[in-house]
Amino acid sequence: MWYVDAPKPVSITHADQTQSGVETHVEEVTMTGSIDGLEMFSSPEKGRGLRVSRGFSVGELLFSCPAYSSVLSVTERGSCCDLCFRRKQGLARCGKCKKAFYCNASCQKADWAMHKLECSAMVAFGENWCPSETSRLVARILAKKKLQKERCDSEKILLIGEMQSHLEDEDNEKKEKTEADIAGLSRFFSKHLEVPSHRDLLTLFSQVACNGFTIEDDELSHMGTAVYPDVALINHSCLPSVIVTFNGTKAEVRAVQDMKPGDEVLISYIDLLYPTDDRNSRLRESYYFTCKCPECQKKSKDKVKLKSAPPSELLEMCEQSLEEMGAVFEDSNVYVLHMMYQAMGVCIYMQDADGALRYGEKLARYYSKLYPPYSLNVSSLYLKLGRIYMAMGRHSEGIKALTKAITIMEVAHGKDHQYLEDIRKELTQK
Ligand SMILES: [Zn+2]
Ligand SMILES: [Zn+2]
Ligand SMILES: [Zn+2]
Repeated sequence: MWYVDAPKPVSITHADQTQSGVETHVEEVTMTGSIDGLEMFSSPEKGRGLRVSRGFSVGELLFSCPAYSSVLSVTERGSCCDLCFRRKQGLARCGKCKKAFYCNASCQKADWAMHKLECSAMVAFGENWCPSETSRLVARILAKKKLQKERCDSEKILLIGEMQSHLEDEDNEKKEKTEADIAGLSRFFSKHLEVPSHRDLLTLFSQVACNGFTIEDDELSHMGTAVYPDVALINHSCLPSVIVTFNGTKAEVRAVQDMKPGDEVLISYIDLLYPTDDRNSRLRESYYFTCKCPECQKKSKDKVKLKSAPPSELLEMCEQSLEEMGAVFEDSNVYVLHMMYQAMGVCIYMQDADGALRYGEKLARYYSKLYPPYSLNVSSLYLKLGRIYMAMGRHSEGIKALTKAITIMEVAHGKDHQYLEDIRKELTQK
């Protein structure tokens, strides 16, 4: 569902200045706050964007951005702290609702302004308490807007209210979903919130839909949802120059290509495994634009990705086993790969280590060819593989896979990230 700022001109003052726009625009950035080494700019084609004003090398941190608002998924409750998202054993529970969990009293205290939106309502509604994650996040944004009148650390360049919305582009299905989310907001949160006008709510939900981020852990499991106004400024490319990772609820943006002054900061909003047409229909569906990056023009990886298979035929074969598919399609076909990934997930769920490794090893071979050199999809796969090998006592294979994950994560997450410390520990545990 989520990711960043769709590159379309917007109606803030500097966005339409295409001729002499650069200078005016630098002034504006200084006026409103800034991040060292970065600047907002606008182009006639893509609207606002972010570019670097000095060089960055692979693995270097461009900037980090605390969440403006974040919300832990209901399914992660009890496994992770509701405030800081740390995953650990023995979390302390909110005594009142018994549904929120925290590292300690200080995490609980820091979360109270947000948790109180839900605490008593969860008790009152009991089993019937079921707002969507989007409604929960929007409730928190509204509460924070009320509390925080000044520009905050997540808004050094872009204010939350300046994030792109696409209200006019939404189809009926999306409109219905938003209406349901708004109904959920009034049903479950109205007691503690001054709900703004319907029109303002529609805009806010649209902003969240195209600018929200899902927070994922090192294996790319969904932990929660958050908004980061400054990160939302980054445009999309299928050949991204940066990757966004999460440290708790903080977003960190690191270079995965060497960048020179003036280069645009570009992330991928979508899974890059898919071929060009498919990627672009996903981009249009969620972000309302078509990508014109060099990869979309060359389509250089499409041939491998689509070897002998239209997607519709593959769908019909879903019921059949992958072994049967193997006789018809090349393994490198992305839809076969997607199914293998699902199959690997099922094997892990059923604790069938051999099955999981069989699919995982095959996937790894193609992933490393089809994804860019630094990709979280690739590192999370190697992590899963490595952890299975280690659990089976196949240490040398485990170490090999974990080391591959580390190589990518040192660039994407930074060398000091807690995840890397954890994995290095796993390497020595036999
Ligand atoms: Zn915590
Ligand atoms: Zn509570
Ligand atoms: Zn592209």
